[in-house]
Amino acid sequence: MKTLVIEDSRTTLKILCSHLERMGITPIPAETGLSGIDLFQKERPDLVLLDIVMPDVDGFEVARKIRQLELQGQWTPIIFLSALTKDQDIERGIAAGGDDYILKPVSEIVLGAKIRAMLRIIQMRQSLLVLTQKLDAANQELRRLTSLDGLTGIANRRHFDNILTREWQRAMRRGDEVAILMCDIDFFKLFNDTYGHQNGDACLIKTAHALTACIERGGDLVARYGGEEFVAILPGTTLEGAVHIADQMRLAVQNLSIPHPSSPFGFVTASLGVASGVAMPETSPNDLIHAADQALYKAKHGGRNRVCQTAALAPES
Ligand code: GH3
Ligand code: MG
Ligand code: MG
Ligand code: MG
Repeated sequence: MKTLVIEDSRTTLKILCSHLERMGITPIPAETGLSGIDLFQKERPDLVLLDIVMPDVDGFEVARKIRQLELQGQWTPIIFLSALTKDQDIERGIAAGGDDYILKPVSEIVLGAKIRAMLRIIQMRQSLLVLTQKLDAANQELRRLTSLDGLTGIANRRHFDNILTREWQRAMRRGDEVAILMCDIDFFKLFNDTYGHQNGDACLIKTAHALTACIERGGDLVARYGGEEFVAILPGTTLEGAVHIADQMRLAVQNLSIPHPSSPFGFVTASLGVASGVAMPETSPNDLIHAADQALYKAKHGGRNRVCQTAALAPES
């Protein structure tokens, strides 16, 4: 533990330093206010003992400066030392950023007791800081978990909705396009009926990862929309570009080669609907979802295991 002692009287400084040494504390002596400020920056002590009346800069000013120099989240206790005994002096000292006040001549016992009290506060403060950090980390983890789908580990619907709103607003500011892909596993009820729900779950996990592997850009997101349905948002992507990604997704699911004897394809496949549109005030992200859903419906009715698209967005009526 290091204590900075700022005191212009050489005799008093010496006495204080030897008191501290006897307490097992390393003193850092400073004979002027300015050198004290300088040493505070260099040494970052745990405690400051500060004289008030000094020829260059008085203790009040030094205390104010020390408070300015403290790093974010840092707090160094300052105990004033002075023969000044007026109530107003104590008030001024505390107002300048001091934490306690000892009258001169300094009693070794009083000094020891006050330092112990300050150490207790430092320790409590540190425990509180550690606790706050843990709480922050737990909150961050909680936020992460509430945005993930429990089964597949990819983004969930809630997170997707938030991202869609954000991306839509961003696209509106830039006059950009946003593309949405809806993906639904074909004949999945039959898959569950054939292989059981647990194998169905395993199939959903594999599908989720296969779809996620198809997106490249940082702003793109694949989420589980619900059940055996997935959704992707591709900001700043044209319909043509989105259809290309959708077809890669379709192939990725097919290439998982998960046997599905009740399907006419013999393997698990997926149908995808794609929509893209320029974000405008008279349209909403829901229109885009609706358009992608209609395209998906077309893909299902067109025979499944295919990609269909919807070109323009109709403004909300
Ligand atoms: P289509 O080709 O028209 O999409 O037919 P489908 O059978 O895939 O569609 P349908 O909507 O009839 O059935 C979806 C099935 O997905 C029924 C439901 O039990 C299953 N399902 C939804 N969520 C889960 C899940 O979390 N785990 C499992 N194993 N199955 C799920
Ligand atoms: Mg003095
Ligand atoms: Mg389905
Ligand atoms: Mg479905």
